[in-house]
Amino acid sequence: MKIAELLQTRSPLELDAKDWENLFGGLQPSFRVRQVQNGLYKSYVSPWENLTIPRTLRETFKELFYLSSDHAKVTLSDNGDTLKALLTLSDQRQIETVLMRYERRSTVCISTQVGCAMNCVFCATGQGGYERHLKVHEMQEQYFWAARELKRLDSNSKITNVVLMGMGEPLANYDNSISFVRSLMTQFSLGARSITLSTVGVVPGIVKLADESLQINLAVSLHAPNDELRTQIVPINRRYGIASLVEALNIYKSRTNRRITLEYALINDLNDHDEHMTQLADIALNLKAHVNLIPLNPTPKYDFRGSPPQRVNKCKTLLQDNGVQVTIRDTRGSDIAAACGQLVANNVNFPKRKRNASLV
Ligand code: SF4
Repeated sequence: MKIAELLQTRSPLELDAKDWENLFGGLQPSFRVRQVQNGLYKSYVSPWENLTIPRTLRETFKELFYLSSDHAKVTLSDNGDTLKALLTLSDQRQIETVLMRYERRSTVCISTQVGCAMNCVFCATGQGGYERHLKVHEMQEQYFWAARELKRLDSNSKITNVVLMGMGEPLANYDNSISFVRSLMTQFSLGARSITLSTVGVVPGIVKLADESLQINLAVSLHAPNDELRTQIVPINRRYGIASLVEALNIYKSRTNRRITLEYALINDLNDHDEHMTQLADIALNLKAHVNLIPLNPTPKYDFRGSPPQRVNKCKTLLQDNGVQVTIRDTRGSDIAAACGQLVANNVNFPKRKRNASLV
């Protein structure tokens, strides 16, 4: 590949040793290639400034390469403990990444696609439709941004958990998502058990993932306990119903020995009735899964609201009475449009779904 083409089309994170040699054109000592490659991953806190290479070379790299982690518009919430970045990619498309700081851990939520084709009714990303898959380096750059912000806020902190739970369906972008997960383990020394992949229920992807010999956590956005309701809320259920989803999850569990988490967004007077909790308990007990109840984050284009706190607590009690392990998850950053896709969606006009309109 010619140098000009290389620089225009590739991220520095995508270049292999030959590409770097090509770029240096014999003008640098032979150790420089390995130094730059290693340094890129180790010095992500501020990639170019922290590389231990000659200053002129650093300046040149800074001018030549585009890193989306250098182009972030950041919004703060929860007393500064939640940071949401709108990252602009090299093709000017935008994605979101969220960094959540807790007492003993820091979690970064990574997007895997620009937009999403899954069309979950309550989701700002789904309302905007699908644009393209993210490349591996575009996921890595989200990690760079988060790691750099964290270091800036507290030099002793580091990212302890990564969740693939931002914009997009990771299993629809399977190869890139899994390469990214592997790079977290090899380049960034993160343990598999600190990584969670969240899917809306792409059954073939779950079965394939079961064979990857990865011990990552799997979270499933269930959101409804029967096919009729789930198909309304999560349209992919029409193709992969709850029975086939449960079968795939049991395969994942048996091959990886990892506990499954069922994510359940509580939507007021839609999926939060007593009988829904009984049905949900049956599914959770079958899978020995943990249930996370999440009061729905409001999105501007969807008329439904999250269940009120009393109802959320009642749902928790009903599940616990049935022997299910359950947690109520906080809605971090709801004042900064933290529901996935909202920052991007706020710039675009999507048709609003009416409460009495067909949901699918
Ligand atoms: S909830 Fe997830 S899978 Fe569903 S539309 Fe939004 S991004 Fe896609």
